[in-house]
Amino acid sequence: MIESVRAHSDFHADWNVVDANGLTVTPGFIDVHSHADFGPFLHDDDTTKVLQGVTTEVVGNCGISLAPTTSERRTLLASAFEPRLSELEPSDGSFAQYLAAMDERGYVTNFAPLVGHNTLRIAALGMEAREPTDDELAQMGKMLEEALDAGAFGLSTGLIYPPGTFSVTSEIVALAERLRPNTLYTSHLRSEADALLEAVAEALHVGESTGTRVQISHHKAAGRSNWGKTRESLALIAAARARGVDVHQDVYPYLAGSTSLRAALPPEFHAGGAEATLARLRDDTALSKLAARIADGAPGFENLVKQAGYDGILIATTASGRFEGMTLSEVGHELAVDPFHALVHVLVQERLEATMTIFLMNEGDVERVITDAHTAIGSDGAYAGSGGKPHPRLFGTFPRVLARYVRERRTLSLGAAIHKMTALAAHIFRLPDRGTLAAGQIADIVAFDADTISDDLDYRDPVRAPKGIAWVMQGGRTVVQGHSYIGARNGERLRPAPA
Ligand SMILES: [Zn+2]
Repeated sequence: MIESVRAHSDFHADWNVVDANGLTVTPGFIDVHSHADFGPFLHDDDTTKVLQGVTTEVVGNCGISLAPTTSERRTLLASAFEPRLSELEPSDGSFAQYLAAMDERGYVTNFAPLVGHNTLRIAALGMEAREPTDDELAQMGKMLEEALDAGAFGLSTGLIYPPGTFSVTSEIVALAERLRPNTLYTSHLRSEADALLEAVAEALHVGESTGTRVQISHHKAAGRSNWGKTRESLALIAAARARGVDVHQDVYPYLAGSTSLRAALPPEFHAGGAEATLARLRDDTALSKLAARIADGAPGFENLVKQAGYDGILIATTASGRFEGMTLSEVGHELAVDPFHALVHVLVQERLEATMTIFLMNEGDVERVITDAHTAIGSDGAYAGSGGKPHPRLFGTFPRVLARYVRERRTLSLGAAIHKMTALAAHIFRLPDRGTLAAGQIADIVAFDADTISDDLDYRDPVRAPKGIAWVMQGGRTVVQGHSYIGARNGERLRPAPA
């Protein structure tokens, strides 16, 4: 804990001095949108965030958490989101037991876990493409409340991902009604592209009709035809805020996104789970329907291929390691097939276990979102330890904000950027003893060189510690020194502030 903040001249010879001459010293950064959920279960320490100066991560985003589940649905959850889940000791599947298992393994950074709507839905009704029965909805609500009792910070949705994509708004509202004043609703919107404004309105409606606080995840306007729409989306959000909705948003500082390659498929391809999807990808009739569905760009699903083009999709990670760092056009060239069949080939060969980096955004939108006073910073970094050529945000988000948007483009002042990464994030997630340097706060601190800090990464060469972070202290102990992690899982699981 920080005992007091005092002038440099108040110095005692017997004190242990940590040098910060010439450095900028700030609270440890808070990554409000992380997918590092599996990190504690990895044998190696997941240092991707702490080397950036991050000391706290909000996990369980985009509707995806590793619990709760049931013994019957555990395999389905693993095949949908985290194959390594099946390597773990079986548990009763409860959120409480999952938290206990993580606590036992230990945390590199502090974790603030959300419970995912996709995960709840898989537990209650699998990957079925329909609305839940009243019983199933009640079961989801009960599991949500158990997760909140156990220490979840709120409910996340990922409404472009199956099975979340099969839900209607009233289902989300029914669940959000069970949230409590010290928890919140976070959402990967139902569309970040053609139906962006409708999707923002849906998230705001969830907040307005239930009184719950809302966090709009990785806010963006995806696809060339939608560039500029953040002007309207931010206006919608500001209008809701003026009506009393407690709503914020977050952003990552890149023009490309990243997600599972299977997100390129329309919802009907996902019904029934991974095996059913693979069967459709091997069926010629289904494939010609798929080709037409992607090409015609009709509404009804988030058509990522249409928005980015095959040249704009770079394979990030695959189960086998093949194709990583290649665009779908390049894969097609190598296999002597058209890029559509390259997409199908990778999905089938890798049994759907592939992720992509996808070029969808425009600098004007990123800058408009990042400068909004209610925007925090989230990496949306890939699942911990998934290897390959992940989107560089996994290793570089926070240094890049300081390099590109503070130092180079002067989009943000240094103070404004730090506020987004620290105090604002702590305010949104109600972390009362993090995010500022003051007496009584936990000593999560980072020291960096504001003149040299940089991510120094690119999309085909994305795995490296950033430059310019001098040291990171977590809970008063130095855990990063000279670009190396020297800690021993000194992080902890955070609990929501009392209501
Ligand atoms: Zn997301």
